[in-house]
Amino acid sequence: MRVLKFGGSSLADADRFLRAAQIIANNAQQESVSVVLSAPGKTTNKLVSVIEFALKQGEAELQIADLESSFSSLFQDIQSELPDIDGTEFQKTVEHSLGMLRKFVHGISLLGTCPDHVNARVISKGERISIQLMKAVLEAKGHAVNLIDPIQYLSAKGDYLESMVDVDASTNNFKTKPLPENHVHIMPGFTAGNEKGELVCLGRNGSDYSAAVLAACLRAECCEIWTDVDGVYNCDPRLVKDARLLKSLSYQEAMELSYFGASVLHPKTIAPIARFQIPCLIKNSFNPQGAGTLIGQDTGEDRLSIKGITTLNNLTMVNVSGPGMKGMVGMASRVFGAMSAAGVSIVLITQSSSEYSISFCIEAEDKLKAKQVLSESFELELKDGILEPVEFIDDVAIITLVGDGMRTASGIASQFFTSLAEVHVNIIAIAQGSSERAISAVIPEDKISEAIKACHENLFNSKHYLDVFVLGVGGVGGEFIDQIHRQQDKLAAKGIEIRVCGLANSKGLLLDAEGLELENWRDRLNGVTDKFSLARLIALVQRNHIINPVLVDCTSSDDIAGQYADFLASGFHVVTPNKKANTASMAYYQQLRDVARTSRRKLMYETTVGAGLPVIENLQNLVAAGDELEKFSGILSGSLSFIFGKLDEGLSFSQATQIAKEKGFTEPDPRDDLSGMDVARKLLILARETGMKLELDDVNVELALPPGFDASGSIDDFMVRLPQADEYFHSLIEEARSTGKVLRYVGEIADGQCRVSIAAVGEDDPMFKIKDGENALAFHSRYYQPIPLVLRGYGAGTEVTAAGVFADLMRTLGWKLGV
Ligand code: ADP
Ligand code: ASP
Ligand code: MG
Repeated sequence: MRVLKFGGSSLADADRFLRAAQIIANNAQQESVSVVLSAPGKTTNKLVSVIEFALKQGEAELQIADLESSFSSLFQDIQSELPDIDGTEFQKTVEHSLGMLRKFVHGISLLGTCPDHVNARVISKGERISIQLMKAVLEAKGHAVNLIDPIQYLSAKGDYLESMVDVDASTNNFKTKPLPENHVHIMPGFTAGNEKGELVCLGRNGSDYSAAVLAACLRAECCEIWTDVDGVYNCDPRLVKDARLLKSLSYQEAMELSYFGASVLHPKTIAPIARFQIPCLIKNSFNPQGAGTLIGQDTGEDRLSIKGITTLNNLTMVNVSGPGMKGMVGMASRVFGAMSAAGVSIVLITQSSSEYSISFCIEAEDKLKAKQVLSESFELELKDGILEPVEFIDDVAIITLVGDGMRTASGIASQFFTSLAEVHVNIIAIAQGSSERAISAVIPEDKISEAIKACHENLFNSKHYLDVFVLGVGGVGGEFIDQIHRQQDKLAAKGIEIRVCGLANSKGLLLDAEGLELENWRDRLNGVTDKFSLARLIALVQRNHIINPVLVDCTSSDDIAGQYADFLASGFHVVTPNKKANTASMAYYQQLRDVARTSRRKLMYETTVGAGLPVIENLQNLVAAGDELEKFSGILSGSLSFIFGKLDEGLSFSQATQIAKEKGFTEPDPRDDLSGMDVARKLLILARETGMKLELDDVNVELALPPGFDASGSIDDFMVRLPQADEYFHSLIEEARSTGKVLRYVGEIADGQCRVSIAAVGEDDPMFKIKDGENALAFHSRYYQPIPLVLRGYGAGTEVTAAGVFADLMRTLGWKLGV
């Protein structure tokens, strides 16, 4: 015997209904089958609202008419596919049910209240309708059908709306009234009968439980739960796009997952089937070929430490605390006794080790009941100050990790909490089941999405998302976007999903939380007039619960650099080749680092010095290892490396500058390079990296122009006047050459001072051979001496710089890159 249960989602329309019927028919050909059906689609919700309308003297009739028309169109649609269907019994049931419903509504409106036994009869009507329709469909397909009346067969105890089935007594019922052979048996889910033979409900979503008890009573070979997803996923697939389907779960894992929110299975389902070790298969009625998820004795094939992450929301946390609680025997039992007497169910409990407080979570809708019963039960203690006023924290949720393997694996809790911290989730309380199969954290409800995404990314080693916002799409920025476009697929294959969610230049802003299509991005940005603002980016990130936003600033704007602290504080990593932030005041420099630390975000600026050369990272590593900088000298400007290199070849200074300008090696205005300020900024960044507390003004800068040279006017005026500088450089070169030296524009750090100047360097100096736009950086340090650490290579150029920005972007993933 197999028990097959179809949920409301599998019966919501004619197509689905017929699919379910086909699955039943296919199974019935192989072996005997018992079927449990839910109400079609959202019928139960509509029935619940009929009662609510009746109580409020509202338009219950409209809701009933809506039900009537949905049943009749369901039947008509099925009939058009199955013309032989006999709808007599079905129609009778619908008419009878709706007639009863109208009578109940009348009574409820008159009384102004709805007794539970009436409520149970109303909300269970949908299941009665499902079974009649399925019977008619299967009979039309030539099957003999027997209906099981759960009131007669399933003996239940408890209240009318939330009863539990006594499996032993019910098994006896099946023995004394055996089911006829060679029939497909169909039972409505969600209901059973009490000692008085009245109909009782098994709690909302209780049809899974009906199937489990039926499987237990019949000692079925398998209990199949057919629903609208391929099985149990490691996260709610509605919350996490790349949630993974689980092949198998142990009964205990399934119990914890469903208890803590995996609504694919009702938590009560597991106990009856686990007792008789009946395997349970979760399958998709839209994809019957899929393997589904098998729930059984063992954790099964998926030998993962963590099987799933679930969330429960709409909760309130209650804190009962006070000096009088320490060592007070029976306190917990009084608190929980009071809750139970008031019918408030407790979702999770934690107790501080000081015994000073007990905290627990309840459903938000039970808050008032809990408040009242606690204030009554502890009136004296509260009055005498033995207890502090009971605290209620609203709008909380629970996020839970579940897995049998957590008992033996270490470090999971720390990864869990680190993941929550990463997305700024404040943990209100923690609980771990004594089975060590589940760890839960109580968190603010509005952080659920971020929390589950971060945990899924980190704990399941699943895809890592980098959601990038690029400001400044000229040279480096544009090349960077093109590089992303080219690499996207390759990186996605390695589990790193880079999405460009925003692009902005001074004219416009393009945004898309799902990631912009990068084909023709330049054309699309051209037409846009929306403007960039920090607030717009933050709003997009918050609205879409983006957990790894990265701001990439490829502008040279002071204004944007001045907003990095706000970006970091709002959860963005910042990657930048823009030197302005790191060379702003020392106070801002420090502030950026403090904000980055507290908000656990990264500020990456490798390309601010030496473009793609790994300067900053190496320096940071040396400093971290205790090295100390004694002296630094370097050629830090690609354009000046080119110009001074050309002087070696005999070109005049003005010729060299002209060629550099024509080749695009200088800024559009060469004075920006010749002023030495760019080199000064780079030098300051290096100096600060080694711990020196200097301001930009403290850098001693000698212009790459003769002293007193008139550098005013337009670019053209300046270029026309430039040959007047040639004589000065000529004599410097001659002087240097007389001692076998060459001229270089060098940045130096020595004796606590930063200096940028034209220097004559000899053959033994690492700068001697540096020309053609190359950069060189020589670090003389405690560890690197007498031979310095020298880094050299192209220190400018859009491709290498963009590649350096790319590397920084990847590094924002930190340790995750290695997993
Ligand atoms: P039915 O109508 O078949 O009883 P439910 O709506 O009760 O279906 O349960 C199926 C739904 O449970 C899925 O559509 C899915 O959105 C949701 N769900 C929540 N968590 C999970 C999970 N971990 N795995 C699979 N589905 C889940
Ligand atoms: N129809 C009932 C409900 O929606 C029972 C079920 O479908 O599981 O709660
Ligand atoms: Mg369900």
